[in-house]
Amino acid sequence: MRSYKVLTFGCQMNEHDSEKMSGLLAAEGLMKSDTAEDADLIIINTCSIREKAEQKFFSEVGKLKELKAANPGLVIAVSGCIAQQEGRKILRRAPHVDLIFGNQNIKDLPDLIASRTRGNREVRTDFPEAYEHELLPAVRTGTVSSFVNIMFGCDNFCSYCVVPHVRGREKSRRPSDIVAEITTLVAGGCREVTLLGQNVNSYGRGLEGTDACTFPELLEMVDGIDGLERIRFVTSHPKDLSDSLVEAMARLPKVCENIHLPLQSASDSVLAGMNRKYTFASYMEKLGKLRAAMPGITLSTDIIVGFPGETEEDYRMTVDALESIRYDSIFSFKYSERPNTKALKMPGHLPEGVKSARLDHVIDLQNRITEEKNAGCVGKTYEVLVERPDKTGDAGRVSGKTRGGKIVNFAGGVSLVGRLVTVRITEGKKHSLVGEMV
Ligand code: SF4
Repeated sequence: MRSYKVLTFGCQMNEHDSEKMSGLLAAEGLMKSDTAEDADLIIINTCSIREKAEQKFFSEVGKLKELKAANPGLVIAVSGCIAQQEGRKILRRAPHVDLIFGNQNIKDLPDLIASRTRGNREVRTDFPEAYEHELLPAVRTGTVSSFVNIMFGCDNFCSYCVVPHVRGREKSRRPSDIVAEITTLVAGGCREVTLLGQNVNSYGRGLEGTDACTFPELLEMVDGIDGLERIRFVTSHPKDLSDSLVEAMARLPKVCENIHLPLQSASDSVLAGMNRKYTFASYMEKLGKLRAAMPGITLSTDIIVGFPGETEEDYRMTVDALESIRYDSIFSFKYSERPNTKALKMPGHLPEGVKSARLDHVIDLQNRITEEKNAGCVGKTYEVLVERPDKTGDAGRVSGKTRGGKIVNFAGGVSLVGRLVTVRITEGKKHSLVGEMV
């Protein structure tokens, strides 16, 4: 076996898990292949957060059947949340799949491949006691900006969410390990880290003795790393967003004035059904504190429409909240039934047509707000961290982000990659900004 291709679906957690798989495979001497057609090993790293993502996975795995028929030596592996959730069932539904492994079995990948060469079709989806995969080498896709796991799993059990079922219970990494990993990344050219956790605000629960550390304390430690320019983090559960975090964000120079704070719904009865453990008023109070401490802060959120029992009035509250808060961007979804979740058994499931109409309206509304906000950036100057040549392949252009997380494309050479520059915005587009260096 000489080459591999990892196909990644879903969130930044999955993207980083794929980087760890690449790290393990590189250590085994395998080369990264540009296409699935040229690979000897294909791993589909799956997402099961929405039903649509699951359908997409089965369509993707179906497409690989022909490749396997043409090359019987090809090894097809499935990892990630669907692997954790469906396990052996995938082997029955897609007999051309060879291996299944869960999020916490990534370290077993070389062993699983060796087992396959002995003719076995294995399924490994157990939750080991120790989180050994935190120590795995990763091949990062972006050297300027990197993801760093600070914790794994989730204890919150929002009633619509599969994450606690597929990624296990919450566990924080030791702060010294996190700082050591980021220091190594910075030595390799990294200038920005995004600290990853399902709920970073509860980071540190369970850490004791010399490892005891809260999330604001961790930010302080990371802020002290020489050579690092910027710190971001996802995701913040509103119920655990503390005053000390707001204070640390405002005070620490490397922490960007940008937060993803999932609202999900502005109706208290829907929030209670979702088991979110905050009210719209308490969410707004925290948002007020963030805006007071950092007037220019950019905001993004997640919205779910069509949750079981959501009335027209509940939905209107969410629309009104989007109009008044004016997020810079949102991720919006219609509620989708997920296995093993409490919401599945709740009364009041809505027809698909109603859910789709509500989602379409929310998307149109937010597109208008995002465009207005991006247009409002024109004429202003921002500090931009240059991350890469422009994705359009336009020679002589580069792409980076403001501290607020907005993508900016402008004329400049690749030597700017990794540098902080000042850019004046000349045009606001739907999903990005265009500017010129000053
Ligand atoms: S906080 Fe809620 S939505 Fe987020 S991962 Fe945990 S259970 Fe899922």
